[in-house]
Amino acid sequence: MHKQSLTIAGNIERIEERLIRACDRAGRKRVEVTLMGVSKFVPITNIKEAFNAGIRCFGESRVKEATEKFADYNDIFPGMKLHLIGALQRNKAKNALAFFDCIQSVDRLELIEELLKNSSMRKIPLEVLLELHTGEETKTGFADTDSLCRAVDLLAGSENLKIAGLMTMAPFTADAQLIRSSFRQVAGAQKELEKCFPKENFSCLSMGMSNDFEIAVEEGSTLIRIGSAIFNES
Ligand SMILES: *Cc1c(COP(=O)(O)O)cnc(C)c1O
Repeated sequence: MHKQSLTIAGNIERIEERLIRACDRAGRKRVEVTLMGVSKFVPITNIKEAFNAGIRCFGESRVKEATEKFADYNDIFPGMKLHLIGALQRNKAKNALAFFDCIQSVDRLELIEELLKNSSMRKIPLEVLLELHTGEETKTGFADTDSLCRAVDLLAGSENLKIAGLMTMAPFTADAQLIRSSFRQVAGAQKELEKCFPKENFSCLSMGMSNDFEIAVEEGSTLIRIGSAIFNES
């Protein structure tokens, strides 16, 4: 066995231990949180190692890289789910729609309109998460709950696009309070949307990355997006 495979499996094991402890602190169950492997820039052999170590959900930030790397992924990685987590340009919406299981980075009305226009090509509904802007450093995402409501209005009733929840990127900072308040904003928006749109599903909260996933789990995350802590050598 070569060194890299030991590193990836070992990294996942260490994240699992930390994840279980964070769930314990929050009075939550481990099964409530999906551990996504963020595989942008990661070669397929390393992704296979993560798959063999139990990861079943992967995130990519670019449509082109993902479609090239993961062609026929349902045959190669049975049971795998692939999400788009990076900013999506309108001219790539069609390709993304045809390929992914979920688009997490739905961040503006014109993108929703473009997705809806082409959505009849879906055999099974595409899950979408609405991205909420909560950190100063990032530019993407809906600005507030009002703009999220307009997005939900557009999507509600679509057969082919199904809202599944919200995602955010916390600010890149060592200030844990700032990070925590970013995640709380998302949990607060979820509560308001559930009140306004009782028929829709907002149960997925995609928040938390390598540097802040424990805080995210404490604040209700149901999907953590981990790249460097899994795939970089430690
Ligand atoms: C790259 C990326 C991640 C993973 O970041 P790490 O800090 O490497 O865990 C998570 N979410 C998004 C949207 C990303 O672009």
